[in-house]
Amino acid sequence: MKDLIDALAADRTLPRDELIFLLKNHENEGLLEYLRYISDSVRRTYYSNKIFIRGLIEFSNYCRCGCRYCGINACNKNVLRYRLGKEEILASCRTGYGLGFRTFVLQGGEDVVMDKEMPDIVASIKENYPDCAVTLSLGERSRDYYQELFDAGADRFLLRHETADKEHYVKLHPKGQTLENRIRCLYDLKDIGYQVGSGFMVGSPYQTLENLADDLIFLKELGPHMIGIGPFIPHHDTEFANYPAGSLKLTLFLLGMLRLMHPNALLPSTTALATLSEQGRSLGIQMGANVIMPNLSPDNASTNYQLYDNKLITGSEAAKNLESLKKKMNEIGFEIVTDRGDTKHL
Ligand code: SAH
Repeated sequence: MKDLIDALAADRTLPRDELIFLLKNHENEGLLEYLRYISDSVRRTYYSNKIFIRGLIEFSNYCRCGCRYCGINACNKNVLRYRLGKEEILASCRTGYGLGFRTFVLQGGEDVVMDKEMPDIVASIKENYPDCAVTLSLGERSRDYYQELFDAGADRFLLRHETADKEHYVKLHPKGQTLENRIRCLYDLKDIGYQVGSGFMVGSPYQTLENLADDLIFLKELGPHMIGIGPFIPHHDTEFANYPAGSLKLTLFLLGMLRLMHPNALLPSTTALATLSEQGRSLGIQMGANVIMPNLSPDNASTNYQLYDNKLITGSEAAKNLESLKKKMNEIGFEIVTDRGDTKHL
């Protein structure tokens, strides 16, 4: 089986049945260890031991969507809804800049009320911090609106495809939300000139290993700059409250595979991974991830931005505790850098 890992590293892809075969063996410790060794060396070729940080600002938890897995979906009446104003967002950027962040990620639900002022917010961040990148993650919009935000100065956009299988997509989302539109958005964003990030949850309800192989194939076709994956974690107020969380091993295995398939991609070790396991963040980094996104939102915002239960917002997950994160990364031989952290080309 190690020869399949070697082939994946050499060809950066594999036939579908071989991807499935590898995924079926993700619990094989020897194989996981070998994958870790190879994917770490691939990452080092491009990024050495450098870890990029992004300051996450959760600007609103209002959302018009009904994604069945998500704790802030429109149907959840128990959420205390909030939206940050321009000054609060700029204050978070100021704090973040002082700490060494050179990328700000504005993430939120699909809050159309904020649409009008968002281009101005983006432009103000770029004006105040011209050496920083602005990443947006605000869901599915028209091409014209994406263009408006790009023209205002946004550099990057994160929009996970969630699952590349049409039938699986329908099980995770209500009528009216289609895989087709999500993919249309991704290609519009790419076409406009954004650095695009996509990805999926590991272990979302009804997901099969075949689905995951199709996710890998979809991402290969899309060729994103960034790929975010993390375990599904249930939220008590959703339809999926009683479904089990995704597996740590499978998430790590997929991170390793993605590093081999996209050697210079920016791969975060996600908050969901850190929430699932105490060692999650470090294990993700050791498996080939090279990005961490500490939380820069004001406390009352991050508390109410609960996509899943027990989301970590304290300790090294909080931007203000960057020193402790730096120390943790140093302990495992990695170095957090103050850098925009763009994709490297050899
Ligand atoms: N509205 C934006 C941001 C969504 S939240 C958008 O549509 O892109 C960011 C990501 O969190 C989602 O894409 C999803 O993959 C993930 N997420 C949502 N609920 C989750 C859960 N219960 N467990 C793990 N990840 C979840």
